[in-house]
Amino acid sequence: MGSTTAARKEAIRHNQNELLYKGVRFSVIGSLAAGVVAKVFFGPLATSQVAVWTWFSILWLVYLTRAADYWLFTRATRAHENVQHWTRRFRIGAMASAAAWSLSMWMIFPVDDPAHQVLLILTLGGVAAGALASLPYDRTLSNVFQLLIFLSVFGRLMVEGTGFAMEMALFSVFVFGFLLSCGKDVGKNYIDLLRLRQDSQETNLTLIRTTEQMARLGYWQWDLNASTVELSNNLTRMLGFNRKQVNIKECFDLMHPDDRLKVQHVCAQVLKTGADAEVEFRTEDRQSGDIRNMRQVTKLLVGSDDSISMLGTVQDVTDIKSAEQKIYSMAYYDDLSGLANRAHFHELLDAEFGLARLRQQEFAIIYIDLDDFKGVNDSYGHECGDNYLVHFSSYLTSLTQRGDMAARLGGDEFCLLLRNIESPQQANDKALQCLEYCKQAVQLGNHRIHPRLSVGIALFPGDAQTADDLVKCADMAMYTVKLAGKHSYAFYDERMARDNHERVRLEADLRQALDRGEFELWYQPKFAIADNTLAGVEALIRWRHPDRGMIPPDLFISTAERVGMIKEIGEWVLINASAQLRQWNDQGMQLGMAINISGDHFVADGFSDFVFATLDRDGVNFSDMEIEITESLSRDPEVHTRICRQLRRKGVRVAIDDFGTGYSSLSVLGKLEVDTLKVDKSFIDGVVDDPAAQLMVKSIIDLSLGLGYDVVAEGVETAEQLVFLRDNGCPFIQGYLFSRPVQADQIPNLMTMDWSLPRAA
Ligand code: C2E
Ligand code: CA
Ligand code: CA
Repeated sequence: MGSTTAARKEAIRHNQNELLYKGVRFSVIGSLAAGVVAKVFFGPLATSQVAVWTWFSILWLVYLTRAADYWLFTRATRAHENVQHWTRRFRIGAMASAAAWSLSMWMIFPVDDPAHQVLLILTLGGVAAGALASLPYDRTLSNVFQLLIFLSVFGRLMVEGTGFAMEMALFSVFVFGFLLSCGKDVGKNYIDLLRLRQDSQETNLTLIRTTEQMARLGYWQWDLNASTVELSNNLTRMLGFNRKQVNIKECFDLMHPDDRLKVQHVCAQVLKTGADAEVEFRTEDRQSGDIRNMRQVTKLLVGSDDSISMLGTVQDVTDIKSAEQKIYSMAYYDDLSGLANRAHFHELLDAEFGLARLRQQEFAIIYIDLDDFKGVNDSYGHECGDNYLVHFSSYLTSLTQRGDMAARLGGDEFCLLLRNIESPQQANDKALQCLEYCKQAVQLGNHRIHPRLSVGIALFPGDAQTADDLVKCADMAMYTVKLAGKHSYAFYDERMARDNHERVRLEADLRQALDRGEFELWYQPKFAIADNTLAGVEALIRWRHPDRGMIPPDLFISTAERVGMIKEIGEWVLINASAQLRQWNDQGMQLGMAINISGDHFVADGFSDFVFATLDRDGVNFSDMEIEITESLSRDPEVHTRICRQLRRKGVRVAIDDFGTGYSSLSVLGKLEVDTLKVDKSFIDGVVDDPAAQLMVKSIIDLSLGLGYDVVAEGVETAEQLVFLRDNGCPFIQGYLFSRPVQADQIPNLMTMDWSLPRAA
């Protein structure tokens, strides 16, 4: 960077010229005045009056010409481009002045008047000293000027040839010698100063240029009288021009058409008010066609001569903008789905409340949750889960219209904001549209998913008065749908809030129930039809709530599963059932014990080891313990099968509870790693008069026995059912017909009772 030496020399020379010309004003005034004085003073003493007038005219002519030259220089607009020319002109002017003054020694020399001769020589000494003051920026010029006058003085005195003239000549040698040596030093100092100034100016310019480039900044100046704009180097490059002076129209052409008016308006405003103004606009890159963002600050400049121009800085803020954009979208939009995120949704919802209140409008939010999303994630992997979310998001987006908004609140939860609805029916229709998503299976890579949704709706102003509350209402409605069996929709109503409150309380109480010893095990006997004996019991949990009395498991097991307490509860059941079995064994009773274990607990790490350790500690037979699990919805049958195998290898029995209600078909019957099937009560209920149920139960019994499983019929309440089951070979029976679940202390009595009675009935 930096200018070449030639350019630098040129710039210094131009500065010299400026300073030299500045001095011309004083030297012209001084010289014209001195010329008059000299003419008046020495004129009458001269030998020829013609010579006096001639000299006087020459002197004035020279200085008036120099005055004109000075005037021309100050008006020249391109003086800095024609440095050589002006240097030459100045030198000629200066030499002419020196010559004019030198002539005075020849044309107005007072012959035979030594006193005036001395005065004239002193005057010329003054002129030479004046040159030292007005020409210090050009050492050579100053020296030549003085030398010319000196030679003239010296030569004239030699010609005079008198003794006194010789003395004066000698004296003048000293005087001019002194002046010349001064001129040499002064001139050198001034030139050094100029060079230094030029260097620091150049350094500053380089600094500015570098800073401009680093900040992607440029500036322009627009002389309002002209139609051209002068651009800085960097701005020229930034805008893709190949010259620094461009037409104002070209500048506007570069802007995005939508931004031109805005920028024009801002410029007009600056002109009108005189206040600085900032504006952003877009430009199109001339080469690549990329759109770039520019930020411009405009300022009005009024020159000392009242000329008005406009100055603008332009900064390329494309990168800053795109970073801002990124931060904005990160803060407001969900990365995966591109929908608004929770924070953004709440912000907009807040605004919507204000607006809807003002305009007395109604609006609705629809809360959507994908049913069993966790299952998809667990069984098909997170990538598939993500694709599922993206797929549903785009479906949701396709449902939005006229200012509606879709958002992903997190996980598998979504919200739709329906602005300005006329009736709840509109929200109803939209919820149905959401559910239509489930009409078709979704193919995601190799996996086919049958989507299911739970949808809740809340309305403003009916349901809530704040954004948070409204979202809660919709969430509650959705949750109610989930509890009621999922895949449907519901409008929020106040009962839901009460139920929810109840649920929350139940959850809180449940967390303390174990510590407070509020759980109990009751036992329901299982009978062997063949010999009318009590073959075993099933342990069933109860919760003795301090305020609400006995709570059946149906009311809290699913809650325990949801809040993650089911493993602890299951372990408590196992420990207590095992201890009870030990106790009965000690009393000489040999019977089987069945316990119910939830799916989550069954597949949890270390389950089978915990079972073995517990049974070992109590010293009960592994084969006396049966673990009942429901037909699994589990997507990982291998894990299930592995645990069943682990348990059975050591003799612990496994039973499938509620058989027939779940997913397994009769075809998988042969592959089950279990010992017992418990036929669900819903089938037993129908065996008396429903031929389908009869066929079903009969087939299950036949097949199971054929395959070597034990079969237990659950929920036997009538003798007719018993007869059907006995006639079809069912070996075991459980039900109110024989006994309800009872407390442990009653089991010994039941063991010894005669159970042939119901059969007789
Ligand atoms: P389940 O395992 O199918 O247990 C049988 C349920 O049917 C018991 O209800 C029992 O009292 C009831 N029952 C038995 N015979 C009859 C009958 O003839 N008629 C009628 N109407 N009902 C009959 P309970 O004790 O209320 O248990 C309900 C469910 O709660 C159980 O169904 C089981 O799935 C679950 N459960 C019970 N205890 C536990 C436990 O300790 N752990 C787990 N994870 N679940 C349990
Ligand atoms: Ca059971
Ligand atoms: Ca059952």
